Parts: sequence; C-alpha cells; structure tokens
Amino acid sequence: MSPNRPLKIVWIYPDLLSTYGDQGNTIVLERRAALRGIPTETVHVRSDQPVPADGDIFLLGGGEDRPQILAAQRLSRDGGLLQAAQRGAVVFAVCAGYQLLGHEFGGEEGQPVQGLGLLDIRSGRGERRAVGEIVGDVSSELNVPRITGFENHQGVTHLGQNVKPFAQVLVGVGNGSGGFEGAYNGRVLGTYMHGPALVRNPGLADLLLRWAVGQELHPIEDSWAGRLREERLNAVMTA
Ligand code: GLN
Repeated sequence: MSPNRPLKIVWIYPDLLSTYGDQGNTIVLERRAALRGIPTETVHVRSDQPVPADGDIFLLGGGEDRPQILAAQRLSRDGGLLQAAQRGAVVFAVCAGYQLLGHEFGGEEGQPVQGLGLLDIRSGRGERRAVGEIVGDVSSELNVPRITGFENHQGVTHLGQNVKPFAQVLVGVGNGSGGFEGAYNGRVLGTYMHGPALVRNPGLADLLLRWAVGQELHPIEDSWAGRLREERLNAVMTA
C-alpha cells in the first residue's frame, strides 16, 4: 500500500460475481480499517470495465456457472488482476471467484473451463451439491481463529504443490478433497465460505488488512461480530 493514498479495495464484477451477500466483505474491510484510522477507497468494477492494477485488496464473490465462465474469460483478457497479484496485491476470492483463480474449473455441463492460474488448484464438478454450514481450523501460520461460513457449490477442488490448504474442515465439505477448505499462496487466498465470510470471521478480515498494510494491527473490541460468531459456531458444533 502506498503511504500517500487510501487503501484501495476493489470489488470485482458485481454484475457477475456477487451471490449470498459476498459484497458485505468490502464493508467489513472498510469498517475495520477505519477503526484503526486507515483510510480506504472502494471501487466497484463491472465486467465491462478495466480492472485497476493499482488496487491493494481485490475481492471476488460467488456466482452461477455461466456468469463464472464469463468472469474468468473477461478477467483473463483484462489482465489487471494478474498484474496486481504479481506485484503482491491481496486477492480474496469466494466460491466461484475461488475456483476461477485456479488452472481450470467445471462449467455448467462439467466441461473444463480455463481459469486464471493464479492459484495452483483445479476444480471439477462433484457428484452432489455441497450446501450448508462449514467450520474449519485455519492453517496455524495464518493466525486466524476457527472459521465459520455457509457453502453452496457443486465444485470439488484439488490442491497442487504450490498452494497450501487454508483450513482443515471440521463441519461441512469445503474443497471436497483432502479434508481441506480453501487454499492460499502468498497473499492470494480462496475459500468456499459465504456468509459473508468476513462478517462472520473478523480475524480473517484482519489478516487481509495486515497483508495489505504490511504491519500488525491493534485488536478491536467488537461484541456484535463476536456474538454472531459464537451463535453460528454453537449452532453447528452442537447440532
Ligand atoms: N458455480 C460454482 C459451483 O457450483 C460456484 C457456486 C458459487 O459460487 N456459489 O461450484
């Protein structure tokens, strides 16, 4: 992040990738940055607009099969997201957005569709749709508390050598392979968690902010976020 301008949050393709309230992730980042005195600027980039390569945090949400294919094609043609990731920008992608960061994913008939190759993952279509609550323990080096979210996807994701699992699944399906949920490499992180994910997991929002500003952030007392987390975790773990 440049010290002379606000933290630039880029919401990618609200017209194609924006299911299950995933756009709420932008609001949580803005709010938690503001509580630390970090100014932000959020830009919504529609799929007929160029992706600004100077963003600090790029967010992608879930989507239906066809909009997901269109989004992958347009992002690949545009090149801005790839350029930004290569210079170390933070990318946080949910579900369809997560799958399209990989080498390939399954289209509406299960046909392989080329992704951006930003994460060393491959997704295809599973036998059954994974729908429901998901809970996982995050890879210890990320220092993020237990995650809670909601998943709804047909895709199954296999991790390659150059990517690490984001979390170990305790409840739910996640990637549907290896007992893992999500994946990350450097500052590019993908997950199947809707919810929206950052609303239900402020610790994850803080990880993205830490990556973007390049320093530790002071903790925030946030009882509402805490209560929501507790309520969701209790409901699922005792079910
Ligand atoms: N179309 C993808 C799948 O079903 C992603 C779905 C989503 O983003 N919720 O796997």
